[in-house]
Amino acid sequence: MDLSYILNELGEERANYFNAIAPPVIQSSNFTFPSVDAMRNDMHYEYEKHFYTRGNNPTVEILRKKLAALEGAEDALVVSSGSTAMSTAILANVQQGDHIVSVSKPYSWTYRLMTDWLPRFGVTTTFVDGTDPANFENAIQPNTRIIYLESPNSFTFELQDLAAVAAIAKARKEAGQEIVTMIDNSYSTPLYQQPLALGIDLSLHSASKYIGGHSDLIAGVICGTNAMMKKIFHAEYMTFGGIISPQNAWLMIRGLRTLELRLERSSQSAMQVLTFLENHPKVKHVYFPFSKLHPQYELAKRQMKACGGLLTIALNTDQIDRVDAFADALQRFLLGVSWGGHESLVFPASVSFSRTTDTPNANPDNFNKVRLYIGLEDPAVLIADLAQALEKV
Ligand SMILES: *Cc1c(COP(=O)(O)O)cnc(C)c1O
Repeated sequence: MDLSYILNELGEERANYFNAIAPPVIQSSNFTFPSVDAMRNDMHYEYEKHFYTRGNNPTVEILRKKLAALEGAEDALVVSSGSTAMSTAILANVQQGDHIVSVSKPYSWTYRLMTDWLPRFGVTTTFVDGTDPANFENAIQPNTRIIYLESPNSFTFELQDLAAVAAIAKARKEAGQEIVTMIDNSYSTPLYQQPLALGIDLSLHSASKYIGGHSDLIAGVICGTNAMMKKIFHAEYMTFGGIISPQNAWLMIRGLRTLELRLERSSQSAMQVLTFLENHPKVKHVYFPFSKLHPQYELAKRQMKACGGLLTIALNTDQIDRVDAFADALQRFLLGVSWGGHESLVFPASVSFSRTTDTPNANPDNFNKVRLYIGLEDPAVLIADLAQALEKV
């Protein structure tokens, strides 16, 4: 199925709604039946039929078809946030006493789930340096049920070799140990990295980033086999009720129309910004998977089609004031977390240091990193803005 078809046509049965180009927002909690018999027939097929919007909603259904096709998955579930996607996928695959092997430094709230929340139910996690696949293999215990990946991570962009990790899990499966592999694929989107094709079982997203793409919604996606999506639907999805609203699903369908274009713009601008930053004396280091200086550049080229617009720089200073001054001086980069929208953003690591209680200057590597998100603005304007702000360093 070609990308244009998925983004523009798939799932859209226009004859059902007056041949309108844009699908309707079916803003209805409930669906009714013409007879008791009809209701009885559909009762046990909530996954496929329309019963109640905590289960299946027609607007959300269009979106699910598109997202599954983008990932090359049999099916997808759309949930209320990226965090819901990660926690749901994890909770669906562990029991009391089980063990997870996770890449070190996953997204902050995923980390909190593994370190603070899951231990309450007897589920433990070992965090490993993901740059060497052997570290996953060596951390597997007889009760390991999940290998959790995030490649690249979204601050310093270390990668994991997805095919190699999938092969490790497959070997264990063949030896009788069920291990589910899953990845937070938010950074790349399904357009720039296809984990399922490399043997990973579940691909997870924060759709609040590129997939939504306009900084106006929070949502998450879980992609995998039909059997896994059904299993999750009938348990965590229906019981926790972390659904997306039809209105937000509609915004995502609209966002998807331009996903390819937005990614291309962001990605190409980021490559221009990268060249500027790598040659600037005030920049000590640039963290970006498609930088030739990235230690895993070859792997990045092999398993990712391209890189989006998120990168981190380490400034050439040992003064936290200079880091703050740089970020404050930027005019076109707005100070904020998140990324993937139309607007460029700056997120300085120095915000996590208190001016009154910490003495960060002791170790500049802790605070000199600044994350930049390259949005849809003219790259020449962004580079000029960076140039003037770097004068403050
Ligand atoms: C934002 C983000 C999340 C969490 O997603 P929300 O939609 O904010 O809940 C998870 N992983 C990564 C890599 C993210 O950037």
